[in-house]
Amino acid sequence: MTKLKESIQILQACEDIKESNLVFGTWGNVSVLLENGNLLITPSGIPYDSMREEDLVICDMDGNVLSGSQNPSSELKMHTTIYKFRSDVKAIVHTHSLYASIVSAALKEVPLLTEDLAMTIGGTIKVTDYKTPGTQELADEVVKELGNVNAVILSNHGQAAVGPTLDDAILAAVMCEKACMLYVKSLEINKSPRVLSEDEIKKLRSTYTDFYRKLRNFKE
Ligand SMILES: [Zn+2]
Repeated sequence: MTKLKESIQILQACEDIKESNLVFGTWGNVSVLLENGNLLITPSGIPYDSMREEDLVICDMDGNVLSGSQNPSSELKMHTTIYKFRSDVKAIVHTHSLYASIVSAALKEVPLLTEDLAMTIGGTIKVTDYKTPGTQELADEVVKELGNVNAVILSNHGQAAVGPTLDDAILAAVMCEKACMLYVKSLEINKSPRVLSEDEIKKLRSTYTDFYRKLRNFKE
């Protein structure tokens, strides 16, 4: 069994997203891309608190279960489609966090307001059209609106965040929730809050990837 390192990372990630208040009940899921091109993903319907290593499921990119006694997350198609679309993505965190869910019902996009969001998310967060959860239609819509940024909002549903490591993907999920909260709160005070320009976001993102991110000890 070669999945041990990644299994520990996923179980830790489940604790992290619960502690960060990104999760309500059992909704949400986490996956990592394995070196052999398969993915390790959380199971469907098991509470994060009681999830064990043997509950995690290995699937191939066609969605076939290769190992594990549980059913893989019902959003497996979204995970495989993102990995096929974005070769830089090695981990995905999907949650139904509060402010992302509010945005998912009320707005079409979330412009970035602060430099930390620009550094970690890398561009305006788009909201998809509504598609039924668990379907390929939703997966296709998600990659279309994700583009090359690190988070996307799923209409009337939640958020998906991605990264080159699981630590990056968790950080993107936390920052996506922050981006949604800041924008919703700003709109309460000012109907057109000042937003960072795409040029400025690009500059900040480069500074982060070339310098700040290297100072962090993200687990590969
Ligand atoms: Zn979901």
